[in-house]
Amino acid sequence: MTLGKEVILHNGIRMPAIGLGVWKMAEGAETKNAVAAALAAGYRHIDTAKLYGNERSVGSAVRESGIPRNEIFVTTKLWPTDFFDPQRGFEESLKRLDIAYVDLYLIHWPVPLISKKPWQILEKIYESGLAKSIGVSNYSEHDIEKVLSYAKIAPMVNQIEFNPKNHDFALVKYCASKNIVVEAYSPLGRGGLIRNRTVIEIAQRYKKTPAQILIRWALEHGTVPLPKSSNPQRIASNLEAF
Ligand code: NDP
Repeated sequence: MTLGKEVILHNGIRMPAIGLGVWKMAEGAETKNAVAAALAAGYRHIDTAKLYGNERSVGSAVRESGIPRNEIFVTTKLWPTDFFDPQRGFEESLKRLDIAYVDLYLIHWPVPLISKKPWQILEKIYESGLAKSIGVSNYSEHDIEKVLSYAKIAPMVNQIEFNPKNHDFALVKYCASKNIVVEAYSPLGRGGLIRNRTVIEIAQRYKKTPAQILIRWALEHGTVPLPKSSNPQRIASNLEAF
């Protein structure tokens, strides 16, 4: 099986097929060093969120990397506390990141009764060019159907938990049928699946690390895994899943 190093979203934007997740990394040295290590190792895709509280460090590592901005794919997310003023939520994220535009802006969590207005504001942000693509996270098929009923611009991405222990193949299939790329969060089961006996056996058989097996599993299911690590060696080895 040949796996691409990039996927193409339905608006033509290219997204690197593995991204570094930075949830639970502390703002400051931990996040900055991890993002710098990832960029040095060859990652070109970073996944943060307002909720993670580390957008400033992500932005400064991206700016200081010396890598042209248009070669790095940066995602951040709108948290429901900003649903009543998503434009402000976005502007504040962009200011903290300090990187002129984001590559992907996601609604972090569905709140079905009040998700219409936030989506319409995301469409305006997309049209302004300050977010090169827009999407959703933790949306079910039903939630996406609702968005599609009023959307001028269909979501390009749905970011959901996806690993051998926790997955919804039907949702992945549905997203594919709508040209929505699925990003796999917690691809290592928050670290727990690395100790799973079956995963360890497969890793031994293929002379790979358990994390590489899990990342490869997500890739082979057509999703874009976002493994998190703060450790430079593990960051680098997680990228060797092709
Ligand atoms: P992961 O499944 O990526 O697991 C991360 C854990 O695995 C950490 O404890 C890490 O420790 C450990 N780990 C990483 N690589 C290795 C390795 N090679 N060997 C051994 N241990 C390893 O968990 P997350 O839940 O963080 O998910 C990843 C990303 O997905 C998040 O950071 C975030 O960006 C996104 N996410 C999005 C959500 C959403 O609602 N949209 C929800 C949850 C996550 P160490 O750092 O010490 O290496």
